[in-house]
Amino acid sequence: MSNLELAPEEAVCGGQAAGAGTPVQELLYGREVVLGTRGMVVTRTLPHRDRRMVGAWCFVDQYGPEDVSSSAGMRVPPHPHTGLQTVSWLVEGDVLHRDSLGSHQLVRPGELNLMTAGRGISHSEESPTDRSPSLHGVQLWVALPEPDRNVPPHFEHHADLPIRTDPGISVTVIMGSLDGSTSTAQVYSPLVGAEAVLAPGAETRLPLRPEFEYAVLTLSGSAVVDGVELAPGPLLYLGTGRSELTLRAESQSRLLLFGGEPFEERIVMWWNFVGRSHDEVVGFREDWTVGDRFGEVRGYAGNPLPAPPLPTTALKPRGRLP
Ligand code: MN
Repeated sequence: MSNLELAPEEAVCGGQAAGAGTPVQELLYGREVVLGTRGMVVTRTLPHRDRRMVGAWCFVDQYGPEDVSSSAGMRVPPHPHTGLQTVSWLVEGDVLHRDSLGSHQLVRPGELNLMTAGRGISHSEESPTDRSPSLHGVQLWVALPEPDRNVPPHFEHHADLPIRTDPGISVTVIMGSLDGSTSTAQVYSPLVGAEAVLAPGAETRLPLRPEFEYAVLTLSGSAVVDGVELAPGPLLYLGTGRSELTLRAESQSRLLLFGGEPFEERIVMWWNFVGRSHDEVVGFREDWTVGDRFGEVRGYAGNPLPAPPLPTTALKPRGRLP
């Protein structure tokens, strides 16, 4: 996934004052963003004007379900990333990932494609030629903390994530640990990402860590999360200070839970880069433009994405909260 906005804003996120100290319930409605000129519409709930990160999670795009049997489906040309991990998770369909390390990996529902950009990588994402008719999924980004943000880029595919099944509910741990199960996906700060699938009427309580902040996104169905009706669309931010979370499904439901220790560093996000300063991000953009740092994606039928122009006004750091 790429941030394909023509004029992306620079955002400064994080900071000590960023996390809520207590449990809260904030419904954060996303905005629709078109990927490419004739691309898919995604709903972007992070970064949000009112809350830019949840733990180290700094970007959430949800797309579909969309009939891609007669359309181009997903076509995101080669583009660069720095200082983050991309987390690709599908509900339906399939997406083919290629990157500048030579990775060539289809991801399907229940599997994780995890790309750690570190100092720099480029990748493309596309619906395969022989594809499932419906595409539905999410892509999230995780900001890397200072000690690890320049690690060598690498790619992981996980098709055997831990799943805990109880009557009426199954929970897949995508990243980090939940309820005694741990994903083998590499993480760089204390965080969790998990998917819960609930049968109609099912109710459960998930154990949480009070020092983490959390958010929930309904991917399909309709559920009641901590007493709040949550249909697909908005993100429910839950704050910190919770030791458990109650979920109840009104219909067959699929929920994404993610969270982590509040991210105390201030970061700069612009286009597909996570950095620490305006000048650093300008340097990333220049490197992409001249063909440095990010390698080359082979096999994608199309040209790489050019970087959008930087804003013409001086970029000023903005706080995480308004
Ligand atoms: Mn991307």
